[in-house]
Amino acid sequence: MKTTAIDYIIETTHLTKKYGKRLAVDDLSFQIKPGQTLGLLGPNGAGKSTTIRMLMGLAKPTSGSATIFGLDLTTQTKQIQSQIGVVFEKPNLYENLSGYENLATFCRLFKRPLSLIRPLLERMDLWDRATEPVKVYSKGMRQRILILRALVHQPQLLFLDEPCSGLDPVSSRIIRDYLLDLKQSGVTILLTSHDMEEVDELCDLIGFINNGKLIALSEKNTLKAAYGSYSIKIIYRKDHELIQEVMIPTPENLLRLSELYSSHQVVSLHSMEASLSETFRKLSALP
Ligand code: ATP
Repeated sequence: MKTTAIDYIIETTHLTKKYGKRLAVDDLSFQIKPGQTLGLLGPNGAGKSTTIRMLMGLAKPTSGSATIFGLDLTTQTKQIQSQIGVVFEKPNLYENLSGYENLATFCRLFKRPLSLIRPLLERMDLWDRATEPVKVYSKGMRQRILILRALVHQPQLLFLDEPCSGLDPVSSRIIRDYLLDLKQSGVTILLTSHDMEEVDELCDLIGFINNGKLIALSEKNTLKAAYGSYSIKIIYRKDHELIQEVMIPTPENLLRLSELYSSHQVVSLHSMEASLSETFRKLSALP
């Protein structure tokens, strides 16, 4: 598949989805360039999953349009679906088949060589468990198989709905490292997550949805600078004790800081960038 000739991998225009009277997604227009990683954030029920479901061709837009790889979402759905990777639905692996066989089934389906499987399983630290049935796998192992399964046909666009939700730190780390490698290799990724640390690490673009509306979409650092505030971490000595404080640089705090500094009590001083959690809280509070 060629993606070099198109400006945007995803382009939506006034995309809208109603369930009865409920407006789940409201007039969404945005574009994603090849190789970008977009984290779609928002409170529960904001419309993130519905957006992804529409983009995957699983929910029909009520109005508006979208193109994926330059293909029309409503008339070229099958063509789009054959070129995207999806980790979205509840785990639907073949429970009695091994991890290897689950991937082999998809290799056969997509006419890909079985020789792909071993390096994939090794990359996700699953090769030594490859022959065991999936029904004995842990949640983290299943999720790793689901991600690999979505990648067997080497899609250039990957949709992930909360990829590491409820996973232990080891599985999360393996998955995140793998996603970072995919990103590095130019795969475009759209993911939803409630884990701000994960989004911060993986995404370069952040879209924030609330009540179905896209309230903000921009580079992560631009968004943090606009809605978050930088803070200063200071460690100083007082009565032979070391005290650590994190302060927002208000005029009063800066004055106090300079007083501490001139009295030689400061041991260390670091500026800390605005957190995505704070940005999320501020965006959620917008009317
Ligand atoms: P979460 O973070 O909890 O996964 P979300 O941002 O993904 O939430 P959606 O699942 O997209 O939110 O839901 C958006 C709105 O659409 C909610 O009010 C939800 O109840 C409603 N909704 C979603 N799917 C359906 C459906 N099949 N039928 C009716 N209403 C639905």
